[in-house]
Amino acid sequence: MALKQICVYCGSSVGVNSEYARAAENLGRELAQRNFGLVYGGGSVGLMGKVSKEVHERGGSVLGIIPKKLLPKEISGETSGELIVTEDMHERKKYMSTLADAFIALPGGFGTLEELLEILTWHQLGLHAKPVGILNVSGFFDSFLRFLDDAVAAGFISETARQIPVVGTTPTELIEKLLAKVDC
Ligand code: AMP
Repeated sequence: MALKQICVYCGSSVGVNSEYARAAENLGRELAQRNFGLVYGGGSVGLMGKVSKEVHERGGSVLGIIPKKLLPKEISGETSGELIVTEDMHERKKYMSTLADAFIALPGGFGTLEELLEILTWHQLGLHAKPVGILNVSGFFDSFLRFLDDAVAAGFISETARQIPVVGTTPTELIEKLLAKVDC
């Protein structure tokens, strides 16, 4: 499977540490340089805006997928690139999962974690075999990763399933790991 489109899940806020926004921009630059198209939640708020603007300004392909309820500009801001408007959140996530060849989660809140956990769950169930990466910026995901280890120890996540998420601390490292997963 060739890796062409990468879906980025990330916060609709920028967070308090400026490293989060910097990482989102670095990821956007890396995607554009390597000619990977971005699939994302549409809009310009938070880290979503940082990553999509960077890809777009560097001439990369950007596809935003947004439910009609979040479409008003006062909710989600301007979109970079193309836009698909969906009926609801479920349809949006279906589009994001089918149009992308790999997934990357940046720091974020409930929305990001829900998207990440859903795509990990679908992988675990064999519904797709696309690589899923976590960009662990400034240790943001440390406690989440510890929680996964605790869930393995408690017998709720198998050792095999625990290997599904690949983790990198820089966009370059993470993308290389995703590519290695696609090749093997
Ligand atoms: P959160 O991590 O809770 O900030 O939620 C981020 C995720 O939820 C994004 O990846 C989007 O899919 C979705 N989301 C939340 N708020 C918005 C918004 N105002 N506009 C577009 N998408 C949003």
